[in-house]
Amino acid sequence: MDLGIAGKRALVCASSKGLGLGCAQALAEAGVNLVMNARGKEALELAAEGIRTKYGVDVATVAADITTEDGRSAVLEAAASVDILVTNAGGPPPGMWTDWERDDFIAALDANMLAPIALIKALVPGMIDKGWGRVVNITSQSVKAPIAVLGLSNSARAGLTGYVAGTARQVAPHGVTINNMLPGIHATDRAVSLDTGVSQQQGITLDEARQQREATIPARRYGTAEEFGAMCAFLCSQRAGFIVGQNILLDGGAVNATL
Ligand code: NAP
Repeated sequence: MDLGIAGKRALVCASSKGLGLGCAQALAEAGVNLVMNARGKEALELAAEGIRTKYGVDVATVAADITTEDGRSAVLEAAASVDILVTNAGGPPPGMWTDWERDDFIAALDANMLAPIALIKALVPGMIDKGWGRVVNITSQSVKAPIAVLGLSNSARAGLTGYVAGTARQVAPHGVTINNMLPGIHATDRAVSLDTGVSQQQGITLDEARQQREATIPARRYGTAEEFGAMCAFLCSQRAGFIVGQNILLDGGAVNATL
């Protein structure tokens, strides 16, 4: 299927590894030129070079923390007037509801709610001027079904979801769509770090922790960054112009709900 976006430009945040990298690769495969971002320069350059070599698109890189104002300024300087925005950042740490103080919530809100909102506010006006744009926010299945130990994530991502629900309807008349992708468990560094926590807590091996979690997923496996990226590229495509303000779950059936 021709996605019809060859030659467009995208900012993909937090994209040196994992789900962000999957999105960057799938957009590049569709012929989209990229601005890629992550904090660590080495992994970012490696990922960018891999994409340039494989797909022949232009890739600019900005090593910066997307959750800070300074980091965003640097990224936005390189990404002015992009057609496509994919927001992403690391997830907050797990814990108990009693663990979190105001500063912990502020950090989670900065990373997983206010950073994407600031990027949307900075870049969507340019998309509206052109009469075309796509925004995809990487959130979490925890928006639909809470993950108790990820209370900071549950809270911040729910806030972003509420903002997007209204905003998506305000920008849709201008040819701009905003949607959220909700990953269930995917085989990335983030999953390894959560499995490591479980293995230490329960005194089991990392493999056992993974098998235990895989057994809770109807698909009986973790998702891949490639599958995730393919959905992102579709949502950013010409074909997806009528998909507005949706929360697309990619979880192998883990959330047990009819709708
Ligand atoms: P990952 O494999 O750990 O990759 C995270 C990527 O984001 C890396 O490239 C990392 O590079 C970059 N990054 C992290 N913090 C950043 C920041 N402040 N500024 C710029 N770049 C940053 O994580 P992932 O599994 O792809 O997860 C991506 C998002 O999806 C997270 O918010 C996660 O909570 C959420 N999620 C993941 C899963 C899953 O199963 N994987 C499930 C639900 C939700 P640097 O460290 O060099 O910055």
